[in-house]
Amino acid sequence: MFNQEVLNELIKALGKDNVLTEKEDLLTYSFDATAAMPRETPNVVVTPNNTEEVATVVKIANRYKVPIYPRGSGTNLSGGTIPLEQGIVLSLLHMDKILEIDDENLTAWVEPGVIIQDLNDAVAKYGLIYPPDPGTVTTATMGGSVSECSGGLRGLKYGVTKHYVMGMELVLANGDVIKWGGKTVKNVTGYDLTALYTGAEGTLGIITKILVKLIPAPEARKSFLAVFDDINKAGTCISAIIKNKVIPATLEIMDNVTIRTVENFTKAGLPTEAEAVVLIEVDGYKESVAREAEIVERICKECGAVEVRAAESDEERDNIWFARRNALPALAQMKPTTVLEDATVPRSKIPEMLHAIRQIAEKYNLTIGTFGHAGDGNLHPTIVTDFRDKEEMERVDKAVDEIFKVAVSLGGTLSGEHGVGISKAKYLPLEFGEAGVETLRRIKEALDPNYLLNPGKIVLRGE
Ligand SMILES: Cc1cc2nc3c(=O)[nH]c(=O)nc-3n(C[C@H](O)[C@H](O)[C@H](O)COP(=O)(O)OP(=O)(O)OC[C@H]3O[C@@H](n4cnc5c(N)ncnc54)[C@H](O)[C@@H]3O)c2cc1C
Repeated sequence: MFNQEVLNELIKALGKDNVLTEKEDLLTYSFDATAAMPRETPNVVVTPNNTEEVATVVKIANRYKVPIYPRGSGTNLSGGTIPLEQGIVLSLLHMDKILEIDDENLTAWVEPGVIIQDLNDAVAKYGLIYPPDPGTVTTATMGGSVSECSGGLRGLKYGVTKHYVMGMELVLANGDVIKWGGKTVKNVTGYDLTALYTGAEGTLGIITKILVKLIPAPEARKSFLAVFDDINKAGTCISAIIKNKVIPATLEIMDNVTIRTVENFTKAGLPTEAEAVVLIEVDGYKESVAREAEIVERICKECGAVEVRAAESDEERDNIWFARRNALPALAQMKPTTVLEDATVPRSKIPEMLHAIRQIAEKYNLTIGTFGHAGDGNLHPTIVTDFRDKEEMERVDKAVDEIFKVAVSLGGTLSGEHGVGISKAKYLPLEFGEAGVETLRRIKEALDPNYLLNPGKIVLRGE
């Protein structure tokens, strides 16, 4: 339990400046980017500066059985950093050094508080990129994105965070420090803890250093915006591009609700009458980009696009992606509460999923804007609502239940990139069955027997 003694020990270990107790700070750290979640105000926020200090905090928490909530920039969308009981919020933001860029092995070691874009800016000097790029690439941390196994706009061609994590340093629930993985391209020694901790959402240990893979930056890029008067045609176009064996770096969709809202917010010149737009970027060597661009343009027209706009300059290209990156912020302006899901289906099922979301919106009389990484099957149906309207929130809950059921019945998954956190924990039996959930629980209890690391997220205590 938290008490004055715990506070004194934390201050002694970290110094007063790294231990926040002001009411405003505590309230701030009880929120993240997820709306309509239960929450508790933490007792204290600590900002350690190195692995040893993180380990000390964990050991103190263990002695007094106080929960710890690890936190990067707090941009996650599943309630992952929200305290559900009182305890210690452990912010990794002070640990923000890029420790090494190895351009012979194409790797980088970073601390968890490094912002993703800062890593990309640093490796650009070597002609390299770190591909995972969530919409929050300029604010989210490496520790947070590894812990969520974040995806992003380039996921279709380049994969998601787990495809780039080669190793890490961890503080375990008892305060021990271990290192796993390494720079070798091949490594099959022992259980793959690197994979287990990537996407563990802070429930199994604290990541204090990360080793990531880098790849050469593409030589050329070409972006398109294809305009459709029917969302089903847009869905079919997405499947057709992939079926024709072109894998764009980015293949995104926005429906009419999203287009209108984004245009109102950004004035990016989007066609507000369109039922859907598909946003595409191909990249690679100049010659292959030219060839792929030709194929993409042809398929869009064959699938019934009423217009295909090709970006002819960097400015036009940036404008397309500026509009897309503003989809969620724009929808969030509409009403006080934004419930955003990331149910994901095999990409051949995109047209069916889009159709089902429309029907669910009509059935429950809700405004649902849908956008997302359609090329990898990862849609973001976004319900704009007001959590103070109890009757509407009941309809929202029912709509969310149905969205998940449809996604799983189409062979999909509850989350393509936003993780389980608080918001999807209750749905796990739908995807894994009771025995599957019990397996997760056994892993949790083996590595964090006292449920002190981010309790209430992913795995709930058994009865
Ligand atoms: C507008 C908007 C757009 C977004 N777009 C995308 C997108 O395109 N793709 C995508 O995948 N996500 C997206 N997200 C979600 C979010 O940005 C990502 O999940 C992001 O990577 C989280 O990083 P963070 O630093 O904010 O982590 P936080 O939110 O602070 O933490 C995330 C989780 O990681 C845990 N954690 C944090 N640091 C550590 C650590 N060092 N050790 C152990 N556990 C830790 C936390 O406890 C929590 O469970 C978006 C969010 C917003 C608001």
